[in-house]
Amino acid sequence: MLPDFKILNPIELEKVEDFLKECFSSCNLYILNILKRERKEIDLKNIIFEVDLEKTNITEKDKIAEIYFSLEFFRKIEAYYTHMFDEKNKEFYKAISLQKNYDKNKANIFMNFMLEISCKFLIFHELGHVYNGHLSFLENEEYTDEDLKMLEWNADDFAATKILEMCAHPNIVTLINNLVKENIVLSLEHLGLLIFKAIAIVFCLSDIGYKERKEEKKHIPGRLRFFIVIINLIKIFDYLNYEKNKFCKCKLFNTCNNIINDIMDLCFHEEVPVNNFLNDCFDSKEWNQENNLEELNVENIKKTLKIEEKYKKESEKKLKKYTRMDAKLEIIN
Ligand SMILES: [Zn+2]
Repeated sequence: MLPDFKILNPIELEKVEDFLKECFSSCNLYILNILKRERKEIDLKNIIFEVDLEKTNITEKDKIAEIYFSLEFFRKIEAYYTHMFDEKNKEFYKAISLQKNYDKNKANIFMNFMLEISCKFLIFHELGHVYNGHLSFLENEEYTDEDLKMLEWNADDFAATKILEMCAHPNIVTLINNLVKENIVLSLEHLGLLIFKAIAIVFCLSDIGYKERKEEKKHIPGRLRFFIVIINLIKIFDYLNYEKNKFCKCKLFNTCNNIINDIMDLCFHEEVPVNNFLNDCFDSKEWNQENNLEELNVENIKKTLKIEEKYKKESEKKLKKYTRMDAKLEIIN
């Protein structure tokens, strides 16, 4: 049984599957087109995409990869957005859309966009494991827990890069402006913020603030991971939109610290409504921003910096033999 997330208008299961498969297809096609442009032939025969009741993960056998997407997690994301974009939470809508008055149709357009970004980020993460050859690496090499963390880091870098390449684009700004059909004139920078927020929401919904959350073997501590992903998103956005946006203009004049801090605040602030929502759904008090703060302590930061240093130095060499992408891996400096 799926827990009751108090979904306001849950999408029927069949439509969820269609929606997620659509998300998967566009992400995968995006990568296949890159490979085509690079005229790179790969050994992968197929990637099958399935919605699973609980888990999100991947397997690979005989050059056929299978990606599973958790229905339970999808329902959580869906429930959160339908809740936040409801008229009861007008302020959220106003902040997202920059509109003065609540409008249900427009709220739906923004909600669908953010839901799509959240899901595509997760899908790109799994595709990163497939296309950067992580599974073959694990199958053929002896590896440590540190290696596992590096692979997850690499999948996050892959996802952050690809989602912004694909979606933080002036064409998407035009598309949303046309859909909303009013004087919203969404800027590229604003679009960037919506994407950052949608990804922050995914991290917050992964129980960052859950009481006594167990540390994972594969990922670096959740609160640090969240921080690193957001910082990297800002860096990639700047890189992709150099000269066009404020984030980098202020970098040129060395006044960017405030803006980066503002973005970080905005993303971390996302945890409060997410925790409130989860406490409300489960009628509990287990989610709180004060929980798991030890993940940000000096010892953990030092350990993570060590992994990062190793990751930047070694992963290209380690994965070169296995990656299906061009020799260049998404390692963000
Ligand atoms: Zn992963």
